[in-house]
Amino acid sequence: MPPVAAALAPAAAVAAAHIAPAATWLPRLRALCFPRLAGLGRPDHVALTFDDGPDPRSTPYFLDALDRLGVRATFFVLGEHAARFPELTGDIARRGHELAVHGWTHSRPWLPAPARDLAEIARAARAVRDITGRRPLWYRPPYGILTGGRWAAGRRLGLRPVLWTAWGRDWTADATPATVRATVSVDLRGGGTILLHDSDRASAPGCWRAALGALPALVVGCRDAGWEVGTLADHAVGGHDTGHPEGARADCARHTARRTAPRAPRRPAAGRH
Ligand SMILES: [Zn+2]
Repeated sequence: MPPVAAALAPAAAVAAAHIAPAATWLPRLRALCFPRLAGLGRPDHVALTFDDGPDPRSTPYFLDALDRLGVRATFFVLGEHAARFPELTGDIARRGHELAVHGWTHSRPWLPAPARDLAEIARAARAVRDITGRRPLWYRPPYGILTGGRWAAGRRLGLRPVLWTAWGRDWTADATPATVRATVSVDLRGGGTILLHDSDRASAPGCWRAALGALPALVVGCRDAGWEVGTLADHAVGGHDTGHPEGARADCARHTARRTAPRAPRRPAAGRH
């Protein structure tokens, strides 16, 4: 190995350990190969989750809508918001919802920072516990980017990492209740976990209204399909037979092989006789 490459090798290894687990960001790969991380649970249930709150400008509307629908959900809160709005954070728990950890701030993990990851996730988990009196169970990193450092920090703190199987792309400026509902429906199955947002602090201003507007039809659609809607705590993530494990393993192997296998050379036309 040339001297420069040899000098760079340790840095490359650190970078790989930092970012390789984030490949689980790919939704189809995740659902097939990492069903627990994807949030696959019991087939007669759908977990409803919200990220980025709490936010006094928007979260109360979601709490009222969920009350009207008779649904309990899991809120992945940012620690800095929870600490800034303790009344609202406590209200989410008092109204029967589950609180979970989304991080302290909504940062992107460009560089490995395992000590900072641990300190910030611990601080956010402590804020939730101090306000609600309950230790959170789940961790979902901002943007769903689960780096090696964040994964290790969550494990060390006793938090289970969980992402999602279906999202509404409700963070975009042009999202509407109809687009959110349609986008969720593409990937939603019984046992799935839905990602929506109850705040626009990390996305386009006012986009939370699209998620809020989509809620009633989403819930009705799930119930019509025979799926109860509820929290991750009630979802039996990874603790239930989610279908056909052998088939899922085979699908996972095929999916990863398709992504990594070199293409077979095309036969010349003359060889087709
Ligand atoms: Zn987020």
